[in-house]
Amino acid sequence: MSRFFSERYDNLTPYTPGEQPQKTGYVKLNTNESPFAASPYAIKAAYTEMKQLELYPDPECAGLRRALADTYNLTPSQVLATNGSDEALYFAFLAFCDEKHPAVFADVTYDFYRVFAELTGTNYRLIPLEGDLTIDPKKFAKAGGTVFLANPNAPTGLALSRDEVEYIIAQNQDNVVVVDEAYVDFGAESCVSLIDKYDNLLVVRTFSKSRSMAGARLGFAMGCDPLINDLNTLRYSTNPYNINRMTMAAGIGALADKDYFYNCLNTICDNRAESKLKLEELGFEVTNSKANFLFAKHPDIGGQELYEKLKQRGVLIRHFEKSRIKDYNRITVGTMGQMNLLVKHISEILEEKHENS
Ligand code: PMP
Repeated sequence: MSRFFSERYDNLTPYTPGEQPQKTGYVKLNTNESPFAASPYAIKAAYTEMKQLELYPDPECAGLRRALADTYNLTPSQVLATNGSDEALYFAFLAFCDEKHPAVFADVTYDFYRVFAELTGTNYRLIPLEGDLTIDPKKFAKAGGTVFLANPNAPTGLALSRDEVEYIIAQNQDNVVVVDEAYVDFGAESCVSLIDKYDNLLVVRTFSKSRSMAGARLGFAMGCDPLINDLNTLRYSTNPYNINRMTMAAGIGALADKDYFYNCLNTICDNRAESKLKLEELGFEVTNSKANFLFAKHPDIGGQELYEKLKQRGVLIRHFEKSRIKDYNRITVGTMGQMNLLVKHISEILEEKHENS
């Protein structure tokens, strides 16, 4: 830290992204990326757009917002495009959290909520997950602050039904409820259809997972016009050109390629089911994930140890230090080739462990 770094950040512990090794050859199951390339429509559109790099992109993101509005049955004024969904979450903290509106979120959830609270000087209250890692919606009633709810939750993969999320929204009408649907396409119920009913609902989504575009950095927020206007005020006060030309074009291309989208989703969901069974056969306890990852623990090996042994064998998964979930690992669902390799390495590691004990 330099001697000039503001004291404002004394309590800030930054987010730790998953490892992004620059060396190739790893089976990479650690950051919930898609194992599939982006749609060929998206790649072609981005390439064409590259020929106009000398010009700023459209700060209104009009074409992309129209395509998103068509996709989700909304008006373009109900949609805001952001540089990854992390930026939408950041804008939501800037816009809807202050001394009178602390942030409220689960004790085990996406760690960026804590980071954005610390960064923006927002107080926050943690609501503990149940013993089985599920969320009890009743504990989020009258939360007394801006609610941040990942549905499905990360890293557990567990989802609330739309009715349960609606209960939380209805019980917090004096506060914004931000529903982070980064993983919703993989089998959970979205609450986008509730946007016209509740003026306190903001839904945040990403192209990083189900649309195979983590490298493009594209997210979006959906909500009633006034909420989106508020976020736009923050966007125009920080970075009006937050979406670059290639990403904007790729986003429109990806939305147009519905067959490709559903094919990828179906394959991931099939692979998730098959891999879950294989891990259970090896003795793992695996949550009922509705996301593109599995969350699993084994009685004979700790989360950290399994992570390290797999890394030595060239397979990356994600382990979190947090005490409540330290026995678990989060494993991104890849191709069946990758998942079979994972299972093979894990069975060898478990065998070695049994031989040595
Ligand atoms: N929300 C959740 C729950 C996530 O796990 C992630 C991915 N790390 C994000 C939001 C952010 O994704 P992105 O910024 O790539 O859109």
